[in-house]
Parts: sequence; C-alpha cells; structure tokens
Amino acid sequence: METIRRTRIVDLLKRVDYGTKVNVKGWVRTKRGSKAVNFIALNDGSTIKNVQIVADGEKFDPETIKQITTGACINVNGLLVESPGAGQNVEIQAEEIEIYGTCPQDYPMQKKGQTFEYMRQHAHMRLRTNTFGAVFRIRHNMAIAIHKFFHDRGFFYFHSPIITASDCEGAGEMFQVTTKNLYDLKKDEEGRIIYDDDFFGKMTSLTVSGQLEGELGATALGQIYTFGPTFRAENSNTPRHLAEFWMIEPEVAFIDMNDLMDLEEEFIKYCVQWALDNCQDDLEFLNKMIDKTLIERLNSVVSTDFIRLPYTEGIKILEEAAAKGRKFEFPIKWGMDLASEHERYLVEEHFKKPVILTDYPKEIKAFYMKQNEDGKTVQGTDVLFPQIGEIIGGSVREESYDKLINRINELNIPMKDMWWYLDTRKFGTCPHGGFGLGFERLILFVTGMQNIRDVIPFPRTPKTAEF
Ligand code: ATP
Ligand code: MN
Repeated sequence: METIRRTRIVDLLKRVDYGTKVNVKGWVRTKRGSKAVNFIALNDGSTIKNVQIVADGEKFDPETIKQITTGACINVNGLLVESPGAGQNVEIQAEEIEIYGTCPQDYPMQKKGQTFEYMRQHAHMRLRTNTFGAVFRIRHNMAIAIHKFFHDRGFFYFHSPIITASDCEGAGEMFQVTTKNLYDLKKDEEGRIIYDDDFFGKMTSLTVSGQLEGELGATALGQIYTFGPTFRAENSNTPRHLAEFWMIEPEVAFIDMNDLMDLEEEFIKYCVQWALDNCQDDLEFLNKMIDKTLIERLNSVVSTDFIRLPYTEGIKILEEAAAKGRKFEFPIKWGMDLASEHERYLVEEHFKKPVILTDYPKEIKAFYMKQNEDGKTVQGTDVLFPQIGEIIGGSVREESYDKLINRINELNIPMKDMWWYLDTRKFGTCPHGGFGLGFERLILFVTGMQNIRDVIPFPRTPKTAEF
C-alpha cells in the first residue's frame, strides 16, 4: 500500500482540495451497499462525525469487503471528493484498503441502543461509541478550560499529595494505604494495629481532599488550585457519587465571601461557555440523543446571575412551600442538612436558576469554616445546580488561631497529626478561602448524562473495579 501521511477525520472534513490523495485510518461504524458499491462510515475518534468511504466493488476483492464489518479497523488510501450526499461536504473514493483488525460478531458494541448499564459492563469497549466519544472529548475540553481559567488569572497549579496521614475534616471514609501483610498483622495488647513498621511508620490513606495542603499553598503563593484524583470509600450507590473522582480546589488568600462567590460563579460560567464554544458537534449530538434541553440549559446558566441566598432564608422558603402543601420526604427544620429534594426544590422549582446557599449552621459544616458574629452560622457556600444538586462546596476559612482551636476542641477532632495545618494560623495568618468542585459533577451538567459512572472512563464504585 502506498504510504500517505494520515489525516485525522476532524481535519479531513474541513478540507476542500478535491482530487488530493489522502489517507485515513479508523474504526468502521457501519457498512451498507451492494456488490457494485459499498459505503463505509469510518470514525477515528477525533470527532463525532464519520467520513464516508466509497468502495467500488470492481476495485476490491469481495473477501476484503466482507471483512469490513462494524468495529473493524481499517487503513484507507483514496481521493478526496466532493460528496453528493446530504450531511457531509466530502467523502473518500477508496483506492486501497488494508484491514488492520477484523471484528468478529461478538463485538460487544455491535448493536445500537444498548442500555447504559450494559455499556458499563463493557466499559473497556464503550469508549468506541458515539456517546462516550462525545463525553470524553468534552471531559478533555473541560480539563483544559479549568487550567486556562486559573492560569489566565494568575493561579498556580499546586500538587497536593495523594497519600496522606490526615483526614481532611472527615469529609468521607478513607481507603487505607499499607504495605503490611494483611494476613499477619502485628497488634498491641489492646488489639490495635501497630503501624511503626509500616511503610510510612504511621497509618496512611488516600486523600479525600487536597484542601488543607492547598491552604498551605495559598498562604504562600497567594492563589493556587489543585486538580487531581480524590478518593472516598463512601458506600453510597447514587448516580452522583464515585469512590474515585477528580476534584478542583482553588484556594485564595485575602478573599471574603463575595469574592469567593464571584469566583465560583465566574469559574463555572467560564467552563460552560468553553464547552459551548469548543464542543459544538459533541453537544449537538448529546442534545439530540441524550437530553433535548441540554444546550438551552447551558446557555441559560452562562447568561443568568446565580441567586445568592443565606441558608436561613432558604429554610424559610422551604417552610412556606411545605405550608402551602408541597410534600417533602424529610421535614424542614432550621439546622438540618438539606436533602437533595430540598436543594432541587430551590433550584428547579422556586428560583429556576443556580443557587449559591451561604451561611450554614456551624453544626453541619466543617471545623475550618469562618465563624460568623451570630455564633451560630459559618461562612460556607454550596453552589446548587439544576439536575445535579451540589456541584461546589466552598468557604471562607477561619483564620483566627484561637477560634479554630476552640472549634477543634468542641468537636473533639484529633489534631495530633495536623500541627502543620495549625501553623498557617500561628505564623502570619491571613483571611483566605476556596472551594472544591467535583469534576465529574461538572461533566454531568455539561453533557446532560444522568449517571456519574458514565462521565469517567473507568468508574470506581462499591464492588466495581473492573477495567
Ligand atoms: P455530597 O453532599 O454531594 O456527598 P460533599 O458535601 O461530601 O458532597 P464536599 O466534601 O464538599 O462534598 O466535596 C466537594 C465537591 O466534591 C462536592 O461539591 C461535589 O461536587 C464533589 N463530590 C463529593 N463527593 C463526591 C463523590 N463521592 N463523587 C463525586 N463527586 C463528589
Ligand atoms: Mn459526600
């Protein structure tokens, strides 16, 4: 076969130099036709769009044509020609076809319209479908948008550790990290495991959040963000929780609540706008196949001001709704942690736009949040989104050493291993704050997908770690 430099399909479809000899390589989506002529829809993952390969029967051995089935991988030389068909400008008049890999009948992505559950059981192959191709191209674009947003604003990308000896705020159950022989654990007289001879000489786990280390970064470099994997051994089988997910955690010195909320809102809008500007083909596909209101919803988020509402006001609105007969599974009471039904009522029914809820009761928030004058609430913010619920959790941090220590003692938090965190308040403390955004929750929102397992290539959930 003649060697011609490969063109990615995304680039090929923009070309107009008809008559040029081109090469494409990719996986066959479909083949239809007759003895006389075959039409092959080829995809190489560079775009949701396929290129049509026209293969004249007389030019090719029928055995070769027979092997070109859905899922097969082929290498094609041919002429770029203007396409007479609708929906595409160009197609390729094939001259040479090499079969890289045939695809037997038991190819798991053979049939169209499989359930998402089926796809998860074949997650190693689902990447080759239109839907997952679209989702993961968008996921890539969101990662780029995040780095660009922060870099352009002078934030430094800061790497917090993945293995940690501290449990950030008890944000979630942790996965232990050990090199000890689990079949032969050394224990003391009271039956507690001895870690002195473990790899790190102490109990260690996978991080549930990079925030505490992020605070060290921000109180030195001014403004940082982390973007990395996070692990929570929470046994919650919901469409919004993973055991391994990616989190973005900016942390900024010298900001107050308003600055923080501005940052949260500007950041999400930037990411959504980036998707609208850079992922048009994939969004149009998802809008057609997954969620007919997707693009409309994305446009609406970038063009509306988010509601900013103190928790106490939110509770009032919920109480009024309940008084008017709106049924909630969990009764409403000041001090409660809002359930998903409450968050969704506020966002989807009452305001019909994203809501930033602020000033939560201190009992339901982490120890490090800045305490308000009222002695009851803290400067925490949750950004609540339609369909998703909580997408961001953030706060202004308590910068006073004494107030922080008091709260830690009230809550009986073991701080033995956290002395280094307290040093930020001891040496040159400063007002600062930040937030955590679950990357997959953002991807859920931007793609319109319904289940968080379908927006990360290889989901980790209870009892699932295949692939
Ligand atoms: P939730 O109430 O939804 O469990 P959380 O209060 O535990 O969230 P935080 O500890 O504030 O969440 O974490 C910050 C962000 O990380 C959340 O706003 C959410 O976007 C995301 N997040 C939290 N837990 C998970 C998880 N198990 N899987 C995926 N994303 C998560
Ligand atoms: Mn949680």
